[in-house]
Amino acid sequence: MVGDVPIGGGAPVSVQSMTVTRTADHEATLQQIYDLAMAGADIVRCTCNEIEAAEGLARIVPRSPVPIVADIHHQYRMALAALEAGVHCLRLNPGNIRKPEHIRLVAAEARDRGVPIRIGVNGGSLHPDLYEKHGGRVTPEAMVESAFAEIGYFAEVGFDLIKISVKASSVPIMIEAYRQLAEVTDHPLHLGVTEAGPPPAGLLKSTAGIATLLAEGIGDTIRYSLTADPVEEARAGRQLLEALGLRERKNVDLIACPSCGRAEIDVVAVAEEAMAVFADREIPLQVAIMGCVVNGPGEARDADLGIAAGRRRGHLFVKGQNAAVVDEDEMVDVLVEWAEFIHEHGADAALARVDTDRAAREAERDRRVLLAEQGDDVNDGGARIERIRSRIA
Ligand code: SF4
Repeated sequence: MVGDVPIGGGAPVSVQSMTVTRTADHEATLQQIYDLAMAGADIVRCTCNEIEAAEGLARIVPRSPVPIVADIHHQYRMALAALEAGVHCLRLNPGNIRKPEHIRLVAAEARDRGVPIRIGVNGGSLHPDLYEKHGGRVTPEAMVESAFAEIGYFAEVGFDLIKISVKASSVPIMIEAYRQLAEVTDHPLHLGVTEAGPPPAGLLKSTAGIATLLAEGIGDTIRYSLTADPVEEARAGRQLLEALGLRERKNVDLIACPSCGRAEIDVVAVAEEAMAVFADREIPLQVAIMGCVVNGPGEARDADLGIAAGRRRGHLFVKGQNAAVVDEDEMVDVLVEWAEFIHEHGADAALARVDTDRAAREAERDRRVLLAEQGDDVNDGGARIERIRSRIA
């Protein structure tokens, strides 16, 4: 348990993130913790790098909406101070706190308070001896060995409230390290690709590593380490779990067609506008934005709600059934309005408000006009095929 959040033992996979404010500035840090919790973080970590940070934690912990982990590097005294501040968990980096007597002291204090510790091995800060032993490079074996050395010190004082991470900035090394770790321990594992960098590359690297392991049944809690607003990290973690079916959806799942020669609107711009408007609203529906009424409603028939463009109008559909016709400029506003109504009252109640036959007739009319204007082959595939054939004939 990290506070009231269970980790491992079949508990749902949880999402973590980390504040970037000075922990000593407890008001700013609390504000960020609330933002992270709203975006999907179940647990938040704050650095505890100075005595003022520990004092900040003493004010933050009682007011935080989620459990707080104190991040400790180098100074074991900061771990003791964070425990005194009442944090729900410590993260220790074995590469940075090296004296066995200091490690044992912290573990004994955590044991007495029933506070768990994450052994946070980081490829970039491996103990120099391990680095040398493993050929002067970061290897999965070296990271696993580092974690076990720390577990050994903890065992000496009878402490085993442990979770472990073995993060590397290399996705293949990180994946292999966690696989090896999962083979030899039952302790809960905290997954992450460290220093993944800014989005979109950082998102891709993190997702590649974390999702691969989760799909193999490895991992109990996750963190995206992005060079970005930490709210992005929390949101990404939540969205990954939702996409993998490991967390019940809380927010809109926005789907959109990739656009093509048939598109009657700028699909990218409208989808981005909708993403911004829906943001973190708690509406667990799948909402589709489709570029044309010729194919859109059919392709997105399984969405809870969607809109497809046609001749400067938006054709709104609910579970594949045409529902309304709106001005192109109002498409996003109307989607939000319908999404809120459906979420509250259900699709049947939403459809009962409108003339679905009329909406279907209008959609069919626009569809026919567009087909007549553009033909069946608006993307010019058939004509290109003809040209290929004539060239090689
Ligand atoms: S055919 Fe219509 S719905 Fe499909 S990609 Fe093109 S614009 Fe989008």
